[in-house]
Amino acid sequence: MDFHWSEEQELLVRSLTELLEREAPESRMAELDEKHEFPYGPWKALADNGILGLGVPEEYGGTPADIQTMTLVCETLGREAFSLGIIYSLGMITIRDILQFGSPEIREKVLGGLVRGDPPVALGITEPQAGSDSAALRTTATYDGEDVVFNGQKMYCTLGEISKHILLMTRDQAIDNPYRGISMWLLPTDTPGVRFNQLSKVGWWCVPSYEVFIEDARVPRSSLIGEENFGWPQLMANFEIERLALCAASLGAAEAAYADASMYANQRVQFGQPIGSFQAVQHKITDMAVKIENMRGFIYKTAWMMDQNMSVRTEHAMCKLYVAQASYEVIDDAMQLLGGLGYMMAHRVQRLWRDIRLMRIGGGTDEIMYNIAGPQLLKQARR
Ligand SMILES: Cc1cc2nc3c(=O)[nH]c(=O)nc-3n(C[C@H](O)[C@H](O)[C@H](O)COP(=O)(O)OP(=O)(O)OC[C@H]3O[C@@H](n4cnc5c(N)ncnc54)[C@H](O)[C@@H]3O)c2cc1C
Repeated sequence: MDFHWSEEQELLVRSLTELLEREAPESRMAELDEKHEFPYGPWKALADNGILGLGVPEEYGGTPADIQTMTLVCETLGREAFSLGIIYSLGMITIRDILQFGSPEIREKVLGGLVRGDPPVALGITEPQAGSDSAALRTTATYDGEDVVFNGQKMYCTLGEISKHILLMTRDQAIDNPYRGISMWLLPTDTPGVRFNQLSKVGWWCVPSYEVFIEDARVPRSSLIGEENFGWPQLMANFEIERLALCAASLGAAEAAYADASMYANQRVQFGQPIGSFQAVQHKITDMAVKIENMRGFIYKTAWMMDQNMSVRTEHAMCKLYVAQASYEVIDDAMQLLGGLGYMMAHRVQRLWRDIRLMRIGGGTDEIMYNIAGPQLLKQARR
């Protein structure tokens, strides 16, 4: 067992941290958040410095990278500028689906732009009646000559309107088994018949989410990604890596909150002494550090397993469940230690607190993670 990072990985984290300190300092990220603006400038800086190309083949301008390295990038983004970590993680699933299943024309059309700084392709699964039960989606795809025509409605489609494309999931209602009737398409967001309504939400203010209304939106048949009616297994193939990336970004956010809280505990004087001298505060700091250490261990091990092509069907769900809750608890404790200051809009901990809560809902809720892991654990126990 080796707990060291390679020299290249250490160098990558150091140079990425310096880049973010320069291009995405806290003051800039706070301002963008307040204005509800997508961080185009910092995102372009990540592109210009090769970060967005990691894991993308060289022929599209990228650099091959293993999952452990990409996990480290997500953690660093989460620690320095959580919104960037979220956006990067969201792109993980759509990029991989396009790489793995997209035709050469689709890969050519999309990947170069992403490496150069386009916002990630948005993901269109959820619908008003299909949330956790995502296979209950109803958006239709009907062939008409050389075209296909979409009708339906998507919900919470993040980055939708600002992306050039949506990875759209449709369902053939004539096939009884929903898992065998789902297809994946590339839908340009400027297609006539596609309309967006931006949603107002508690956090993720730099990362817009939309309702999408799709009425007779027509694209060429060649927009199919992968095989017709195989969209469900294609989607599942890359859900695990998206969830792991979101976990790593959440770990980074917890590390940032911990840094703020522990520094404050050493500095803030009450009753004539630093609040860190009170045992109750020391216990909280220790609990936070234990959770961070556990999250790190779980995430790194899961990433390592994925790099060895081992199944992480159970592990990724347990990891997402644990990290979503533990990162929220660490950030909530940080707010408590900062007292009134942590509740002020001027402090980054309030933003982390608003942003982190979604991790227990998006990408599969806590309850769904239990539903994935529980039966697998019992199956293992029966063997
Ligand atoms: C800000 C935001 C961004 C998002 N971005 C995207 C995106 O880009 N693309 C996309 O496709 N989707 C996106 N989503 C959708 C997200 O994945 C869903 O919100 C999530 O899967 C839960 O679905 P739901 O909100 O409909 O809740 P529901 O599925 O209606 O669940 C409500 C409650 O019931 C519980 N529940 C449901 N079924 C079970 C069960 N079998 N056992 C136990 N408990 C259960 C849930 O855990 C939850 O607590 C986003 C959501 C949000 C809020």
